[in-house]
Amino acid sequence: MNMEKILEVKNLKTYFTLKSDKFGAEPEVVKAVNDLSFDVMKGEILGIVGESGCGKSTLGKTILKLNHKTDGEILYHGEEVFNLNDKDLKDLRKQMQMVFQDPFSSLNPRKKVGSLLAQPLQIHKMGSKQEIDEKIDRIMKEVGINPVYKGRFPHQFSGGQRQRIGIARALMLNPEFIICDEAVSALDVSIQAQVLNLLLDLHDKYNFTYIFIAHDLAVVEFISTKILVMYLGKIVETADKKELVKSHLHPYTKALFDAFPATNPKGRENRDPVLMGDVPSPINPPSGCYFHPRCPRAMEKCKMEYPPLREVSPGHKVACWLYE
Ligand code: ADP
Ligand code: MG
Repeated sequence: MNMEKILEVKNLKTYFTLKSDKFGAEPEVVKAVNDLSFDVMKGEILGIVGESGCGKSTLGKTILKLNHKTDGEILYHGEEVFNLNDKDLKDLRKQMQMVFQDPFSSLNPRKKVGSLLAQPLQIHKMGSKQEIDEKIDRIMKEVGINPVYKGRFPHQFSGGQRQRIGIARALMLNPEFIICDEAVSALDVSIQAQVLNLLLDLHDKYNFTYIFIAHDLAVVEFISTKILVMYLGKIVETADKKELVKSHLHPYTKALFDAFPATNPKGRENRDPVLMGDVPSPINPPSGCYFHPRCPRAMEKCKMEYPPLREVSPGHKVACWLYE
């Protein structure tokens, strides 16, 4: 693999200040992304996993400057995303695309698929009408949708087909980096596998770099080359996928693996929730290690002090006092 560093996130924080209803009360602060650092190499598929509310979407949006950042750095090819001028930010958003759970919820439901696919190219003034038409046909084929259907509306397609069209829309601008946020989460397990395989085929063909965000470890494990486990805005463990599957150290990572045992999302059946209790609020996270109230192995120290993220073997980092 080409080891060019494409994205570097350093001590990134995104906090949201909530207005308090109580007169004179201190505003509450949600630390959605709380001091994250990681790199993404070209061609890598970085899976980001964690329960709902742990800050995954906020992280994805902040990387594309669709959110503010409170502190830290986001370097894309060595350039701080938040320092880009309008033209360079527009270029960045060509190179970096985002695919959401329901890619059409934000788009005009009265527009046909063909014109929804043409839109990004028209916005960026790329190509003649004929070139755009040819590209739509080629990319629809590439994602497994017959181009004769470009005259249909999004609601006339199944969920899996709609997600393929969402991927096609992301491909229209020839990106090099795609952030998938819960891109297969709404689909049936068998359809999930098909869309994941499509993403993998595209990755192999174009050497795309992905950040693949999901609350479901089975899909993250299926597609990723590297995994980052988040809990309440923080990284609790990260390693290459193969390493993490062999040796998951953090009790939270272990709980996720116990809850979602199958590698292939197709082979997954009754998964029973091993994790007890809800994710605590990121407004007032627990003292010490944020996971300690739910941790079966919590010690006295865990209630007092947040553990640092330590490298336990090359590329494998864990934030847990058990591995001090
Ligand atoms: P995830 O994608 O992992 O489910 P999110 O990034 O959506 O998590 O949310 C992380 C936390 O930040 C949640 O507590 C959520 O309520 C909060 N949050 C996200 N966006 C906003 C916002 N625009 N304003 C206030 N709080 C927000
Ligand atoms: Mg989310």
